[in-house]
Amino acid sequence: MKTHKDRNLLPDLIIKNIGQLVTVAGSSLTPKTYSEMDELGTIKNGAVAIKDENIIDVGQSNKLENKYKYNNIKIIDACEKVVMPGFVDCHTHAVFGGDRAGEFIQRIQGITYWEILKKGGGILSTVKNTRKLKLSELIKTSSMHLDSMLLHGTTTVEIKSGYGLNKKDELKILKAIQNLKIIHHIEIIPTFLGAHTVPLEYKKNPEAYAKIVCDMLSEVKPYATFCDVFCDKGGFSPKQSEKILSSAARLDFKLKMHVNEFEDIGGISVAIKLGAMTVDHLDIIKPSDILKMKNRGIVCVLLPGVTFFLMKNTYAPAKMLIEKGLPIAIATDFNPGTCPCNNMQLIITLACLKLGMTPTQAINAATINAAHAVGMAHRIGSIETGKQADIIILDIHDYKQIPYYFGINHVNTVIKKGKVVVENKYLIN
Ligand SMILES: [Zn+2]
Repeated sequence: MKTHKDRNLLPDLIIKNIGQLVTVAGSSLTPKTYSEMDELGTIKNGAVAIKDENIIDVGQSNKLENKYKYNNIKIIDACEKVVMPGFVDCHTHAVFGGDRAGEFIQRIQGITYWEILKKGGGILSTVKNTRKLKLSELIKTSSMHLDSMLLHGTTTVEIKSGYGLNKKDELKILKAIQNLKIIHHIEIIPTFLGAHTVPLEYKKNPEAYAKIVCDMLSEVKPYATFCDVFCDKGGFSPKQSEKILSSAARLDFKLKMHVNEFEDIGGISVAIKLGAMTVDHLDIIKPSDILKMKNRGIVCVLLPGVTFFLMKNTYAPAKMLIEKGLPIAIATDFNPGTCPCNNMQLIITLACLKLGMTPTQAINAATINAAHAVGMAHRIGSIETGKQADIIILDIHDYKQIPYYFGINHVNTVIKKGKVVVENKYLIN
């Protein structure tokens, strides 16, 4: 071992002896489409060199080990396992109060989501439980969910508000997200979803509530990057959605839309018109809408965990979307009602079994394309020189084993911004 003249050129961490390095490289400018979805840029016997927060070198393990044979470099031996980029969960509602486990029992006994909602359950019960919590309590419960995400390999997560449905409580949720951004290792992209559903007190006058959401926009702007609207059955009409989102666009919010989960009420046309960055769900979609979305740069975010948990049979037509050249990402939609699962590995399994995607396509959709869905692909979503070091080491020897050994957490080590934050399946503070 020797000392290098200029320490600034040296890594401070090397992950060596990687059996299968899944880089997902080459699509930082535009999302993967068509046959690009069938490539993962794997390197056999690979290594990654990291300095501070970033990746400074990627290549063969023996080459990197020879190149950087100096003192004071921390070495992690991956023991011939799989190393890949951390998952990007690009659609969640991870800040909420209470849970809906009781409702789950009702649903498996045959009571529908809509019947539960009519009786004041469903999303409205979560609104009640979230309003009850103090900011500090909300931060505490949400932090536990983020711990679980990190342990399962998610290094970046988008989180929406939407269980407050009044200015005070929407701001409380967004402030909780801001706090979590500071205290938690996981990176968070905040989204304002004041138009999640019409609150009970405005049930007879949804129009008035849509106006209130517009009025909230300037005040919530410092706390949110995106504005989202639930434009579907039980939510907001295309006209109301357009009004809210066009006001948000004028304030420089980037746009997202929940569309076509329960019914196609015309949300996609609004997303195209306003240049939304993503349309999310798409369980029901007309071929003509698929054609209309082509070459618009809109990422289709598919959420198979929701369809699965609601015991529905109509899944988003992922194969057709890929065939037609639309970029697709997958996410958990983690929320207490329709998908209380925050494990991206299980979502990859569902993408394979229920959406007909291959493991390769599902991993592209859970990493680089998901990074595009939150506008961060220039910095995260793949293992390439110059990108942020968000890397996971899994206790498997082939990435195809992620969906195959399903329901198991394969993640052993998580590195976020160059720092080891999970080691041997335990969080490090
Ligand atoms: Zn959602």
